[in-house]
Amino acid sequence: MGTKGRQIVDMDVNELIALLNKAYADEWLAYYQYWIGAKVVKGPMKEAVIAELTQHAADELRHADMLAQRIIQLGGIPITKPADWYQHTNCGYDAPDDPFVKAVLEQNIKGEQCAIMTYKALVNLTMQKDPVTYNVVLQILQDEVEHEEDLQAEMEDLETLLQRAKSC
Ligand code: MG
Ligand code: FE
Ligand code: FE
Repeated sequence: MGTKGRQIVDMDVNELIALLNKAYADEWLAYYQYWIGAKVVKGPMKEAVIAELTQHAADELRHADMLAQRIIQLGGIPITKPADWYQHTNCGYDAPDDPFVKAVLEQNIKGEQCAIMTYKALVNLTMQKDPVTYNVVLQILQDEVEHEEDLQAEMEDLETLLQRAKSC
C-alpha cells in the first residue's frame, strides 16, 4: 500500500474499496457469462456472435485485473473466494441455459446496461475526489458502452435476418 497514494484520496477509502470489490465480483461473473456463452451459443450468425462474446470475455477479465490492482494500491484485498462473488455482485449472473443467439444476446445486453449504470455511479463518486480510481472506472465505462453497442448491433442484424426468413 502506498501511503501518499492513499492519503490523496478525498473520500472514505474503505467504502471505496468495498464498492470496487463489488464491481470486481461483477467482472468475474461477466467474464464467465461471456466465456460460457461463446461455447454454448446456437443459431444464425453464430460465428459473428462467438467472436464478439470471446472478445468481451477477454475485456471483462482485463477489467477484473484493473480493479484488483487498484484495490491493492488502496490497501484493500480483492475478493479471494469465488463463492463471495454472488454476495457482492451488483449485476448478478445470467446462465445461458437457453443457448439460442437471441436469448444469449439479450442476457448480455442486460448485463452491459447494468455495468454502465454501475460505472457511471463510480465515475460520479470519484470525480474530483480520487483521480486515479476515476481514471480506472472511466476507462472501464468506455469499454462497457462499446460492449452494449456491439451487442445491440449484432441483435439488429439478427432481427433483420429472422424477419427476412419469416417473409420468404
Ligand atoms: Mg466488441
Ligand atoms: Fe467489464
Ligand atoms: Fe462489458
